[in-house]
Formats: sequence, structure tokens, C-alpha cells
Amino acid sequence: MESLRRNLLSLDGKGYGAYKSVRGAYSGGWFDLFIDHVQADPFAPPSRGRIRVLHGISGFPPYLYGSRTRKIALQDFVARNFYRLLKAGDSGDRSASGKGGLVGVDRCGQEVLDRTAVLVTGDFIEVRFTVGLPARGRTVLGREAARLLTEFVPGIAERTMLYKNLRREDLVRHVEVVEDQEYLRGALAERGLVAFVGNGSILPRESGVSDRPLTGPAVVPFQSPPGLEVEISLPNRGRVAGMGIPRGVTLVVGGGYHGKSTLLRALERGVYNHIPGDGRELAVTVGDAVKIRAEDGRRVEKVDISGFINNLPFGLDTRSFSTENASGSTSQAANIVEALESGASLLLLDEDTSATNFMIRDGRMQRLVAKRNEPITPFIDRVRELLEGLNVSTVIVVGGSGDYLGVADLVIMMQNYMPHDVTGAARKIIEDTPGQRVVEAAGRLCRPAPRIPLPAGGKPDRFRVRARGVEQISFGRDDINLAYVDQLVDPSQTRAVAEIIRYAYERYVDGKKPLSAVVERVLEDIGREGLDVVSPFERGQHPGDLAGPRKQEIMAAFNRLRSVRISSGKNNRVTQ
Ligand code: ADP
Ligand code: MG
Repeated sequence: MESLRRNLLSLDGKGYGAYKSVRGAYSGGWFDLFIDHVQADPFAPPSRGRIRVLHGISGFPPYLYGSRTRKIALQDFVARNFYRLLKAGDSGDRSASGKGGLVGVDRCGQEVLDRTAVLVTGDFIEVRFTVGLPARGRTVLGREAARLLTEFVPGIAERTMLYKNLRREDLVRHVEVVEDQEYLRGALAERGLVAFVGNGSILPRESGVSDRPLTGPAVVPFQSPPGLEVEISLPNRGRVAGMGIPRGVTLVVGGGYHGKSTLLRALERGVYNHIPGDGRELAVTVGDAVKIRAEDGRRVEKVDISGFINNLPFGLDTRSFSTENASGSTSQAANIVEALESGASLLLLDEDTSATNFMIRDGRMQRLVAKRNEPITPFIDRVRELLEGLNVSTVIVVGGSGDYLGVADLVIMMQNYMPHDVTGAARKIIEDTPGQRVVEAAGRLCRPAPRIPLPAGGKPDRFRVRARGVEQISFGRDDINLAYVDQLVDPSQTRAVAEIIRYAYERYVDGKKPLSAVVERVLEDIGREGLDVVSPFERGQHPGDLAGPRKQEIMAAFNRLRSVRISSGKNNRVTQ
């Protein structure tokens, strides 16, 4: 470190290019510092470094990283603290050009995700950071750079990467709360459940743009209706009670503004683990649950939507349906079929984000517009088949259509943010007031045949990927719009999805493997070697800004890539 300091001081006042010489590895006694990448000019993307502490010195007890889940939680805890101290600290001379003087580490949200920002192995803990090497104009500010790299960053490392300097109760709680959620999710299936919402959970969020819990006297903590209450014993927290949602077709009904969508959104996010204090630490959903919504304008490539849509005008084929511009109903149908292809065992739908004509056609409309003039088989006529034929459960928010009562196993009514089991009352209403509509399903709904992506032709630069925020990826000359992929929650996940698509095209897309198999191969590599494996950088030079997406979101991104080509074999048959 002393040689790094002397070198940086000697660069003071030189041209920016002189910074190149600081690339390398340095020993700080109790830590090692790696400067992996040095930016070419003050306005280029920042330089990248890592700081590593061996466990002999870090002192973390192996208990805290002894399983994959605990390790991810420990990494997450350190990343958050590092970030917090970076923000609190004075990281630089703000007169420097560009982002000079700014040190960064990936920012975590309310979810605890597998991230490349911090790596814990059996031997060491490592934090990956970016640093804008400071300059005035294009002149090196060597003294400031020396302060950043030899004092500021090691100072934060000392407070976040050494066990003895951490608040032990907070760290242990962080790890245990995450482990409990993972356990809870794993315990759902054997109890015949698809979701669990613990009593006392805080589901509403601070605002439409904040994922933090709503606070204040108006917040109503979740409380299970007595008939739906189940108890589960967690490894760390012990016994907890809450509402179990069984496999089946579940309706969430209730007046407007009574908390229906809030419950559904909690279920969407329940595929991820949350930090202590989030309010959703006991709101857990099966890991392959997929939110389904209308998404007009999206691209669809050779998806068999014939189970839902048939006889389109001009004889368009819906057994292998492609469009550059799907309608509300065709996009929602494609989203369902693709979710089935990704192995979803639970679909989550909200009337707020569904196409009405996809959800229901009532008796009067059926009489006015004959079935032969209506391409859509509404979801209401397929939802039982999804369950009974394909073992796929559904939770649907419907405030508007009583016809849905007839297909539900369970009806939960939200009233003043409190759930009530109104299944009995719903049954009574069905008996007293017979429905007007006739079932419209024609043919049987089958599990979709696998779709096989074709290798991408063209120049290698078509593999140039970039993520912008949570919602956008550019892939070569295409854009992938992920704004309506609701369970993609973090910009670092989006970056990872972008790299995964590139990696998959380079290695596994061969015109023979189905899309789901391609994605599984990538996930196996990640499982074995860590998320770093999809990084575009040389080994050891980590980007530190990737977070793990699920198989479902990776497949969703592929399916929205406008240049993706699917083999037109005799696949894609859903209805027979
Ligand atoms: P719905 O879908 O039934 O129309 P929402 O779920 O959108 O209603 O909720 C309406 C409003 O109530 C939102 O602003 C939400 O944040 C708030 N809210 C939801 N659940 C709770 C709760 N348990 N306590 C306090 N406010 C809540
Ligand atoms: Mg709503």
C-alpha cells in the first residue's frame, strides 16, 4: 500500500493516462487491494477494484456462511453496510471532473439477492467497488487519489469486513431471517400451500416509487382469517402463524381501495427473501410463481396461444403465434403460455393489469356476440383446467366479476385491509343466483411444447449488451423492454439478465436445446461457479454490479427480445 501511495503522489499533476500504472495488486497487511481496471479518462465508466480479507483475519464464524442461503445473506449484509458508509462518508473532492472522487458499491433494495458486489468463499471475503479516479480537467489529482485508495476505502473495509467491528446481533438476525424465509418457501409444498402471509406482516409500501414499508398509525398489520390460519415452525424464529393459501384457484375480492392489489403484490415479491424490518419477512410464495398481466405492444415469437385465442381475423395461426405488436388479450395469453413453459406452478393475476375481455365474457355479451365471432376463450373457462390438468394454481384479484365465484376453491375478501374467508357466502350466492354465461372452452388445454431458439446470426457485435435501469436492455441493435416483467426488481438483476442472454447465445443456444434447457444450463454454471461466470470481464476482474434473476425473468427477457428466432418445428401445440 505504501508503494501505491507513493506512486499516486508522484502522478499528481500528470496527464490522466498516467493513472494506468496503478493497475495491480497491493498488500495492506490485513487486506489485499486489487485495482483491476483503470478508466482511460475522467468521464469514462469508473475504475474497478476489489478489497479482500482472508477469513483468518476477517473472523467471520463459518456458521454465517456455511450454507448457500447464509452466505448470500452475509454478503448482502456486508454490501449494505459498505454502501451505507460510502454514502455517509466524505468520499471525495467534489471539484474533481466527471465522477472523479466517487467510490461506489452496488446498491441493495428490500430484497436479499445473490450479488456479485460481495463475495464470500471458504477462504476470504471480498468487496467489489468502483472508483472515479480524480482529476482536475485531465490532470491527475494524485494526493486525492491516494487518500481515497489508501485511507478512505480501507477505512470502510475495516468497519464492514471485520467480524469484530460489526454489530453481531444485527448480522446474525439478518442471516437468520433470510434463512427462515428460505425454509418457509421450501415448507409450502408439503403442506399443500402455494403462499403464506404471516400474522403481523406489513404489506403496503411507502409510496408507488418506494419499496420501503408504509409506516404510521394508519397501517393495518396482516391478520389471517381463523379458518385459513396455519402454523409453521421455523429454524430460527420458531413457531409462526399466518394465512396459508392452498393450491387451487383463489380469488381475492373486495371493494376498491381495500388492499387487494397490495396483497397480490406481496405475493409477487414473496418469491424473494426480504431484509429484517421490511414487513414481508413472512410473506412467502412458491419460488416459481409468475405474475401475469396484459402487455400490449410486446413482441411474441411462435407461442401457441390457441388454448386462449382462436380464429383470429384473416386466419392468423394461433398455434404458433407471432407478432411485433400484441394486443392486450394476445399478450396476456402469451404471458401465460410462456410462464407455463418456464415451469410456473402459480399464476398471479390482478384485474387492474389484465385485459377485461381476456378475463371474462358475461352471459349477455355471449348472446350478443356469438362464440364464432369471438376469438378469445376467456381465462375463467381455463382456470380450472390449469389446476386440474396442469397442476397450476392461480390467485386472481377480481372486484368486478361475480362469475369468477363459480370457479374458485377459496374466496378471500379484503375489507379495510383485513382478509376474510368468504368462500361459504360465495357458494351460497352461486346456489341462489345461477350464472347466465355458458362455458366457452373448446378443446383441451395442454402443457406447451418446448420452444427452441435458433442461434443468432450476424456480426459478433450483435452480442453487445447493456442494461438501462430495471426496465431496459439493449442487445446488439435491439431493445428488450422489461417494464411489465413485474418480478424483475433490481437494476443489477437486469444487468445480469443482459449478460446471461449474451452468455447463453455464445454457449448454449444451438438450435436444438429448448429455451428452458438453455436457461437451466446457464443457471447450473452460475450455481457451480457463481454469478461472476456470466461477467464479460476477464476472470478476477469483477463488475460487482450483478444480482441473480430467476429462471422465469431470464426466459421473459428472451421472449421479449425482438431478434429472437424460434425454430418452427412441429412444436408449439397446446390445444388438441
Ligand atoms: P385495491 O387493489 O383493493 O383497490 P390497494 O391494494 O391498491 O387496493 O390499496 C389501496 C391503498 O391502501 C394503497 O395506497 C395501499 O398502500 C393502502 N393499503 C393497502 N394495504 C394497507 C394496510 N394493510 N394498511 C394501510 N394501508 C394499506
Ligand atoms: Mg387494485
